[in-house]
Amino acid sequence: MKAKLSQKNFQKAQQFIPGGVNSPVRAFKAVEMDPLYICRGEGSKIYDADGNVYIDYVAAFGPLIMGHVNPEVLAQVEKSIKQGFAFGSPTQLETQLAQQICSRIASIQMIRMVNSGTEATMSAIRLARAYTGRNLIIKCDGHYHGHCDSLLAKAGSGPTTLGLPDSPGVPEAFTQNTITIPFNDIKAAETVFDCYSDDIAAIILEPVPGNMGVVLPRPGFLQKLHLITQQNKALLIFDEVMSGFRVAPGGAQALFKIEPDLTCLGKIIGGGFPVGAYGGKKEIMEMVAPCGPVYQAGTLSGNPVAMTAGLATLQLLQQEDIYTQLEKKTAYLKEGLLNAARKNGFQVTCNSIGSMFTLFFSEKEITNYQDVLKCDRNLFGRYFRGMIERGIYLPPSQFEAAFISAAHSDKDIERTIDAAKEVLAEL
Ligand code: PLP
Repeated sequence: MKAKLSQKNFQKAQQFIPGGVNSPVRAFKAVEMDPLYICRGEGSKIYDADGNVYIDYVAAFGPLIMGHVNPEVLAQVEKSIKQGFAFGSPTQLETQLAQQICSRIASIQMIRMVNSGTEATMSAIRLARAYTGRNLIIKCDGHYHGHCDSLLAKAGSGPTTLGLPDSPGVPEAFTQNTITIPFNDIKAAETVFDCYSDDIAAIILEPVPGNMGVVLPRPGFLQKLHLITQQNKALLIFDEVMSGFRVAPGGAQALFKIEPDLTCLGKIIGGGFPVGAYGGKKEIMEMVAPCGPVYQAGTLSGNPVAMTAGLATLQLLQQEDIYTQLEKKTAYLKEGLLNAARKNGFQVTCNSIGSMFTLFFSEKEITNYQDVLKCDRNLFGRYFRGMIERGIYLPPSQFEAAFISAAHSDKDIERTIDAAKEVLAEL
């Protein structure tokens, strides 16, 4: 694999951009190599500066469920962009996307568009505090909700990879109102509610965490959590920035039949453009300005091009069978990877749901952050580098989810399994 131009690009970038990247995981530090500079994407493939081609399982960290440059999304975006880039006034597109989301996710009666998942979670928390008149927020270890100060406590994704669970620059006062508990541990949630019942505004969690790799909720865990929040008059916030429209048409909440009070979205609803959103019960959402007193705003919020890409993507996701096909491909790949590992004497675990999956280098069941931290990260790095050499582009950390898109063909999946067989035989 040639990487000369990527390396040159990276050296130059480091002169002008901290660490050479605009989001830490992209620096490939966890897998001990330089990042690749991607020039183009099409369908399931991406092409780098040195002319290498890869089957892509990063999908821009989730948004590209239809693959790169889907022709129908592109056609709509081209049309929209010619009408104008941004207006700073309302457009019908915003209402159309809001209506689509409200009609597909039962718990969302009203929704506000923002520009990123971070903005969505930060705003949802502000709203939850205002609505309940309480300050404490509970989050789960290893769940990542973006880089907003109060949620950078035991966060997954980049902070875990870099060994920075809490960041310097976040005043203690900002995280003093954040309590963390282990995922899948209902006793821990009960204990916290027993101690602080009247002060807890909300619990925020990824119903299906993807930012410590994919971890599944234990049967009944989410339902019990929902009940506890109701009993204590606290809000349940599902961060579905990653799982929304990914694990099922109605998100994880549809799969597990729970209606949270607030939901955060992002990624897929922007079709690859910068978008986030938070929504929920009308009574709560009506507290947001200018309807109510909770201030939240954004120059480019509801950007017409991003709304168009989101609408086009959601429209394509209505095709019959699309989620079933995605799941089938994921199940086939998972089986192939597990067989390849077992044949070569590796004890691994593969968690998956819908079209997201993570191969963990651990023989144990992975149910929470502590389990994930025990994985063999060195082995993961070697596996990652072997796969890259063979044209398979995986997320560059053990603490990330991989994604399959509608553009991945059976041939892509077979090639990926063959590559894994070779790599695992060599490790
Ligand atoms: N919440 C979840 C579950 C995420 O996966 C992410 C990003 O990966 C975020 C929030 C933050 O979103 P953004 O990177 O758009 O700020």
